[in-house]
Amino acid sequence: MPKVKYAELRKKTIETCLAMNASGINQGTSGNVSVRTDEGFLITGSGIPYARMKPEHVVEMDLDGGYRGDYLPSSEWRMHLDIFKARPEAGAIVHTHSVHATALSCLRRDIPAFHYMIGVAGGTSLRVSGYAEFGTQALSDVMLKAMQGRSACLLANHGQICFGPNLDRALWLAVEIETLCRQYWTAMLAGKPVILTDEQMASVLKRFKTYGKQSGELDKSQASAVLAPVRRDQPEGGKSRSRKQERRPA
Ligand SMILES: [Zn+2]
Repeated sequence: MPKVKYAELRKKTIETCLAMNASGINQGTSGNVSVRTDEGFLITGSGIPYARMKPEHVVEMDLDGGYRGDYLPSSEWRMHLDIFKARPEAGAIVHTHSVHATALSCLRRDIPAFHYMIGVAGGTSLRVSGYAEFGTQALSDVMLKAMQGRSACLLANHGQICFGPNLDRALWLAVEIETLCRQYWTAMLAGKPVILTDEQMASVLKRFKTYGKQSGELDKSQASAVLAPVRRDQPEGGKSRSRKQERRPA
């Protein structure tokens, strides 16, 4: 077998699929994963079980809808292509039919700011797209509309889709979206959740922009809003913690 292009990225794509199924947000091969390349993107092949997926089953596509190799890309390739074209900040995409996100997508109501973490997708709600059949340009169009200014949305009577700067972050967001949908479902069973105000969410969204940055990168007003912990001196011989350590909204 000749060496495949983007071997490492293909391997990482398969690892993300396996992690997605292990996390419980995906069943079988209904979901799909993609990652941007210099010429276009790599996307999981159509209908190949992840446990049997080999690097050559991850399909290379260009941004005009062309693919290379012997395997067909996922039937949802069009949504991935349109996100990579429309959203330059997207480095990787995860699409799944996770149970709670899919169930709520059938109600066709946007998920409001019942919890501040709704802001991780970039806005004060999680929108539900209009309905269109899987794999069609019409679905891609309603999805892009629901994703305006956001990095995730629910797809009516279908599931969820989201993107991040890389595969790890895209998968993290997909798990977060499913968790939020499960929490919202649970809160609605218990009663009528109080929705955060636009003002409260504006403050949250401002803070989310600063997460993951070191204090030196923040201006004074941001730094005070984030309430950074006080750094103590290292004990003698103590190992300093990695400054690259990833911090996520908690
Ligand atoms: Zn789907």
